[in-house]
Amino acid sequence: MITISTGAEVRAVCDETRARGGTVGLVPTMGSFHEGHRSLMRAARATHDLVVVSLFVNPKQFGPAEDLDAYPRDLDADTAIAITEGVDVLFTPEVAEMYPDGARTTVHVAELTEGLCGARRPGHFDGVTTIVAKLFAIVGPCTAYFGRKDAQQLAVIRRMTLDLNLPVEVVGCPLVREPDGLAMSSRNTYLSPDERARATVLVRALRTAADAVLSGERDADALRALLRATFATEPSVRVDYAEVVDVATIRPIARIEGDALIAVAAFVANTRLIDNVTISFDGFRAVVDGGVLAAGSSEEH
Ligand code: AMP
Repeated sequence: MITISTGAEVRAVCDETRARGGTVGLVPTMGSFHEGHRSLMRAARATHDLVVVSLFVNPKQFGPAEDLDAYPRDLDADTAIAITEGVDVLFTPEVAEMYPDGARTTVHVAELTEGLCGARRPGHFDGVTTIVAKLFAIVGPCTAYFGRKDAQQLAVIRRMTLDLNLPVEVVGCPLVREPDGLAMSSRNTYLSPDERARATVLVRALRTAADAVLSGERDADALRALLRATFATEPSVRVDYAEVVDVATIRPIARIEGDALIAVAAFVANTRLIDNVTISFDGFRAVVDGGVLAAGSSEEH
């Protein structure tokens, strides 16, 4: 594996691979690797000749009161993990490389960024789309892997890629959980053991709603009420949102009729966590994806 800090060098390696007829897989990250990141690296490794992982804690996607300075950083551990996963290029640019003096361009995706995390974190998705568009421009034609943990981000990036004719295939990968169901996140390291236990209320709320969908519930307000009722059992956890939206447009829906996203965000002490499940229909069956259900209770109605 080589570690590269300039976009020009990354581009050269990617161009060389494509010139030989090879394909490139890209995994954009902010580091502090866990199983979620590793699953994306493995998906890319399984398919591509060259696997590029970018590691950049992007200041533009953090709000002024958010955790940019505290965000966990451990380049040595991340480098070791990337080597283990067979990554070819670890791209670790400095802020000045990605945002040279005088940069004035922001990529904004309308509407999809207005709800859920977009409403609570003003400017967040502009930071995400701007950096991802830049990574796509640096790497060039490739397949890019994103986790469904960040379902709104995935929808926004898909829309951006379509709207800007970017030569990138966007692949969404399954959400990876801890054994007790908590969605893996770099931010889980902020939690004390007690907070860590209380944080499972997010997945418990989603499980309750998913079970209701499998029992035939289609009314979105009834599902929202179930989410809130589960959160009420853990009053120290502050709900940021508990929503049922269309998976592609991220607009709230009244009934689950097509592909839907049940999404929650909540503060456990000062740590903001997000989680979700997606609901789709396979003929007459509702299918729950997001790994919240007990093994064997497989996803049907
Ligand atoms: P981050 O480093 O948090 O910006 O995440 C980098 C990529 O890893 C994004 O595409 C995330 O959606 C993905 N990711 C983070 N956590 C998980 C998880 N628990 N399961 C699957 N993918 C994840």
